[in-house]
Amino acid sequence: MSFDAYRCPNGHITYPSHPLCPECGEKQTETVDLTEETATVITWTTSTATPPGVEAPNTIAVVEFDVEGETVRAIGQATTDEIEIGDEVRPVYADQLREPGAGIREPESQEWDGYRFEPVL
Ligand SMILES: [Zn+2]
Repeated sequence: MSFDAYRCPNGHITYPSHPLCPECGEKQTETVDLTEETATVITWTTSTATPPGVEAPNTIAVVEFDVEGETVRAIGQATTDEIEIGDEVRPVYADQLREPGAGIREPESQEWDGYRFEPVL
C-alpha cells in the first residue's frame, strides 16, 4: 500500500484525489507517493467522543507536505497526542485504523488500513 497524492498535468497536487483538479479543472492523471516524505503539523485536535470502532482519545492532525514546491495538505490520525504545531511527522502504515467489527457499514465493504502520522524525533 502506498500513501498517494494526485497530480494534474499542471503540477497541482492534492490529497485525497478529486475527479478534477480543484485548482485548474484538469483531470488528475499522476500519483505521488507520500510515504517517504515528511510533513509539518498545521493543527491538531484530540477527540474523546469518537465514532464507532475508533479508539478514544483519537488525535487527528492536519499536516502539510511540501512536494516539489507544491503544498499538499492531508488529515489523519496521529500516533500520539504528544504533538505540537510545527512538528515534523512522517506517515506510518497501520493495518487497522479502526476496528472492523464496530462500524456501521459492512466490514467487507471498506478498507481498514491506512496511514497515521508519527513525529520525527
Ligand atoms: Zn491543476
